Amino acid sequence: KYYNMVEDMKGKIRVFCRIRPMNRTETAGGSKPVVDCVDEYSVVVETPRGLKEFQFDKVFSTASSQEEVFQDTSRLIQSAIDGFNVCIFSYGQTGSGKTFTMVGDKDLRNPGIMPRAFRKIFDLIQENASKFDFKVSAYMLELYNDRLLDLFVSPAEAFGRKIEIKKDKKGLVFAQGAETMAAGSAEQLLALLEQGCANRHIAATKMNMESSRSHLIIGITIESTNLTNGSVSYGKLSLVDLAGSERAAKTGAKDDQLKEANSINKSLSALGDVIFALSSEQSYVPYRNNKLTQVMQDSLGGNAKTLMFVNVSPSDCNAEETLTSLTYATRVK
Ligand code: ADP
Ligand code: MG
Repeated sequence: KYYNMVEDMKGKIRVFCRIRPMNRTETAGGSKPVVDCVDEYSVVVETPRGLKEFQFDKVFSTASSQEEVFQDTSRLIQSAIDGFNVCIFSYGQTGSGKTFTMVGDKDLRNPGIMPRAFRKIFDLIQENASKFDFKVSAYMLELYNDRLLDLFVSPAEAFGRKIEIKKDKKGLVFAQGAETMAAGSAEQLLALLEQGCANRHIAATKMNMESSRSHLIIGITIESTNLTNGSVSYGKLSLVDLAGSERAAKTGAKDDQLKEANSINKSLSALGDVIFALSSEQSYVPYRNNKLTQVMQDSLGGNAKTLMFVNVSPSDCNAEETLTSLTYATRVK
């Protein structure tokens, strides 16, 4: 039943919820887990006002492995090879497991969706090599305070460049002023990801900010030439690790931090508005309202296939943010 659903998801948005396990600090500090999955499709949160239940296309419990999570997303990689625009992104408060889900743990010993997707892209390319010729290229951007930075060049260089989001003749978004790198293997893509993450870390340090306060956007274009008739098609995989969704008030932000928080809130609500417009089939979709939705435009709506992860913490101390995240995610369904 579920696999049919993924196959049919053209133009639709699916939402998967993932609950991370309690961490040592939470357990040692006496926090209690208050989030649980009732079944594969529902998550329940214990609040002082009673139980609140939310439904999603799939819920991954604290016990779900990276393999399991990828198994349920890997069909989308095939779609990108087949010429669709696919977008996978993670939403949630800082510390809820977005980066773990999208990228993996620190040394990528427990890789998440991106490294697995890279491997899958090139496995599929190899399987189809007798019928198609493939070209893979990627850009990698960071969006911070409404400013786009190219993660494929050194931060010193990136700060001096102006990046503009444009659409090419095929309707695919590209970042004018940013590098697009060709990749001939999963290892090359992975090396690019690691280089980009390193640049992101340096840039964050230079700007004196946490990298969790910026959005990470990777666009991978797959060009395939049919060897029999020469026809060319383009698929795209956009992978986005969003900035933390937590409210500014809770973190006691002021000045620069407040500006940062406002910019994040603005972009996340613009994204929510776009997805809401799409899922409620409104004729006007406000893509132009924010740089985030501009970059993601080609992979939201149209015949794109979009998968959102809402990542949540299980702990009682995060229950309010968890409720906010689950509500946001329910709104976009
Ligand atoms: P975010 O990107 O949302 O700020 P992270 O992905 O960095 O959160 O996760 C915070 C911490 O929790 C990290 O140390 C990460 O390795 C760990 N973590 C998150 N999700 C899981 C999970 N499903 N299983 C084990 N550890 C996890
Ligand atoms: Mg993160």
